[in-house]
Amino acid sequence: MIRKFLHQVFSRKTPASTSNSTLTVIPLKRHGIRRHQITPCALKIATQIQQAGFSAYIVGGAVRDLLLGLTPKDFDIATNATPEEVHHIFRRSRIIGRRFRLVHVMCGAETVEVSTFRGSSTEEDDPVSIQLTDQHGRLLHDNVFGSQEEDAARRDFTVNALFYDPAKEEILDYLKGYEDIKAKKLRIIGDPVQRYREDPVRLLRAVRLASKLGLQIETETARPIGDLAPLLHNVPPSRLFDEMLKLLLSGYALPCVIELRARGLHHGLLPMLDVILEQPLGERFITIALKNTDERIRQNKPVSPGFLFAILLWHEVLSRWNTLQTAGEKPAPALFNAIDTILSIQRNKLAIPRRFDAVIHEIWTMQPRFEARAGRKPLRMLTHPRFRAAFDFMLLRCESGELDTELGVWWKTFLSADNAQRDTMLSNQPGPKRSKRRRSRKKATLSNDTGSDTANPDTQS
Ligand code: ATP
Ligand code: MG
Repeated sequence: MIRKFLHQVFSRKTPASTSNSTLTVIPLKRHGIRRHQITPCALKIATQIQQAGFSAYIVGGAVRDLLLGLTPKDFDIATNATPEEVHHIFRRSRIIGRRFRLVHVMCGAETVEVSTFRGSSTEEDDPVSIQLTDQHGRLLHDNVFGSQEEDAARRDFTVNALFYDPAKEEILDYLKGYEDIKAKKLRIIGDPVQRYREDPVRLLRAVRLASKLGLQIETETARPIGDLAPLLHNVPPSRLFDEMLKLLLSGYALPCVIELRARGLHHGLLPMLDVILEQPLGERFITIALKNTDERIRQNKPVSPGFLFAILLWHEVLSRWNTLQTAGEKPAPALFNAIDTILSIQRNKLAIPRRFDAVIHEIWTMQPRFEARAGRKPLRMLTHPRFRAAFDFMLLRCESGELDTELGVWWKTFLSADNAQRDTMLSNQPGPKRSKRRRSRKKATLSNDTGSDTANPDTQS
């Protein structure tokens, strides 16, 4: 009864086709990945699972990255042991997840994710393990264990569906992912439209992985992307935020954003991105800022998400701010109003967590203060905890042509000057005369190093 009802309410997902999957075992001499390229923790955990009588493979992004000659971010393990069985093997482990339960195994400072092979349910399955989809085909539950072959088929792209057995140093390939890696092709597994409908985040993953790994999105995989872009509206905003953050912090933010725009995927994420990118000033600002961010990431320097979102939304704030001022509002309240409006519109699209609000807010509201150089205001600015981030932000505005470069040069000089030089610079500024009493006040002290670390200073977060 319940099943019949569920069938009527939700469309039923057909399992991703595994019919054209044949297992190819790729030996060490062909693939070249050596055991020592796996972190000692991941290796130890896989070995212990195998010694307990189960299978265990390094899987997903790590195998793909190693084959591409890149250093994996992390190592995930897939096994035929259930989460409880894995948890039983490792004292320092815990079962996590609701949509799909998996195990985090702690090893030193590292955490390795161990997941049980996932499958697709068949007609006669237990009703609780049915894969339910919403009216757009999005998977609402994905909680069925399966065989290794099924686990390969439910992954997103063929290059992400390779299993590396560290004991035998072999790669198991059910879906010709190895060939695709060698041909630098990103190919979705199964029917592209169905797979994007099941999980529209795969649209973004396609763009990110292709840009980051230098892969070409295969024709059939690429074809429906533009048409299905509206499905992103249906994804919970917090999940979109996580995926967007991965994209922005991938070290390839600029090519990714260019690709998102080319494929029409940017509408649902940052609603005005298309408008901003069409204004030469906005495009220049975002281009310079993202290029900077990418360089920082490649140099292993920290990047703050707050700073990034302040960049991506700045030209929206700017245009709203201008409109309000034209309508007669005073600059300061107009800026605060513009910020409130833009952040609340944004919250409905891609939920920027509130913990970033303070940084974003401060970076933006400090901007007009860089232009007020009269009196001792610049000295007070130096003591602001978010000065460095706001300063870098202001330099980007200068570089993009939004502000006069003279302003940036003045501030760089001011920052590297000693106290006497700063005093001279301030007294050369037009504005109210400073009294003797104020001049003799304790001078603000901040590091004299300019080292204009454009984009993302360590004080940003
Ligand atoms: P990276 O970690 O470099 O961003 P990744 O491919 O490892 O890339 P993860 O999010 O760590 O990405 O996912 C690990 C693996 O889980 C993927 O390689 C893929 O096999 C599978 N996977 C991740 N997201 C999805 C998805 N939306 N649909 C299907 N399979 C997915
Ligand atoms: Mg990964």
